[in-house]
Amino acid sequence: MSNKIQAIRGMNDLLPKDSALWLSLEKTIFNLFLSYGFKNIRTPIVEKTDTFCRAIGEATDIVEKEMYSWQESNGESLSLRPEGTAGCVRAMIEHNLPREGIQKVFYQGAMFRHERPQKGRYRQFHQVGVEVFGADNAKIDAELMVMTYSLWQNLGLKNITLEINTLGSSEARANYRFLLTDYFTQHKDQLDEDSTRRLSTNPLRILDSKNKDMQSLINAAPKLMDYLDDESSKHFDEFKAYLDYLNIPYVINTRLVRGLDYYNRTVFEWTTTDLGSQGTICAGGRYDGLVEKMGGKPTPAVGFALGLERLILLLEAQEITLSEPPLSIYLVILGDDAQLRSMQVATQLHHALPEAILYNDITLGSFKAQFKKADKANADFALILGEEEMSNNQISIKPLKGQGLQQAMSLDEVIKYFKN
Ligand code: ATP
Ligand code: MG
Repeated sequence: MSNKIQAIRGMNDLLPKDSALWLSLEKTIFNLFLSYGFKNIRTPIVEKTDTFCRAIGEATDIVEKEMYSWQESNGESLSLRPEGTAGCVRAMIEHNLPREGIQKVFYQGAMFRHERPQKGRYRQFHQVGVEVFGADNAKIDAELMVMTYSLWQNLGLKNITLEINTLGSSEARANYRFLLTDYFTQHKDQLDEDSTRRLSTNPLRILDSKNKDMQSLINAAPKLMDYLDDESSKHFDEFKAYLDYLNIPYVINTRLVRGLDYYNRTVFEWTTTDLGSQGTICAGGRYDGLVEKMGGKPTPAVGFALGLERLILLLEAQEITLSEPPLSIYLVILGDDAQLRSMQVATQLHHALPEAILYNDITLGSFKAQFKKADKANADFALILGEEEMSNNQISIKPLKGQGLQQAMSLDEVIKYFKN
């Protein structure tokens, strides 16, 4: 038993019994994004390590310690993608897409980060993300908020808060960085080990430290909001005006700096208190400088990623099932002729009732055994093809839930019966 094959820690199977919720969730999300004019983009799961380092930034948790990287025999370092933006930006530049006008894309798929696995935090997890290239107007930032807000409403989710902040221009941020470094240097004795290291590499990240002992120090730190450049200040005001006008509630969190280096101006997170400390279900912001930094023409951009595992956990916590199960029918069959006929019946039923689930029995067991299987499959109806039905060219319908009686009829009548 000890050499039983097992999956990697933090990388989970999605089993058939759990996958219906995932499928409905993904369908709801994709249809909504398509309806806002977004188109799907698919980039490789593996990219050059450098693509991620340049995009995400060297002094970030992801690049410092979370990437799965290895060396090819030619010495080149490759990595499993830890997030989706870097690959999108690389593809935009490589295929010159922003030249054709504003690009609104969404991606989905597995991401990989070497983190400590716990509820809501895994080593392989799944994101759906959205990116818009070529628009710097606050209107598009607001559209992303409306779209995500509608998603929570469509899913029936409650208790989700929008937190927003602005990181200003890179110049404003550089000036602020000096002030912040000064401030934390004056209180160096109160910094923990992580923050001491970040003081020289990425002092803004000290602001999102989760260490309780440092909260009062962080709360008293100078705020970037008070040192914004005029343009960014105006952009943030416009963003807030849209949210107010659209009645989207939000809180301003001046300590929201996000884990990735590439953000400027608008940053936001949708958070919930229903998932313990893994409470951020969707996060993103503006990254106007990234395309140029990655070797493309200057192109403003904004986007977000949502964590599907956390959304699923939240749906479960709030006891939301999303879709009514479709009509399901079990074909109970006895005799060789009936076996043959059942394939034809099933094919016609699939045509006539494309949403219905048909179980065409393949066990060739007794009637009794097949009805047991029908119950186990939780089918709504049994369709019976036995000797009598075969000789009358009929099919019997038997409701498996409730009181209905068994009745024999032609296939056309069966189809009519289900359509009503
Ligand atoms: P956190 O602060 O929780 O580590 P993050 O800032 O690293 O999050 P992003 O890189 O912004 O997360 O990713 C966007 C979303 O993807 C997160 O809000 C979360 O919902 C999800 N996510 C990130 N890392 C994981 C993970 N290891 N396991 C499951 N979901 C994750
Ligand atoms: Mg993280």
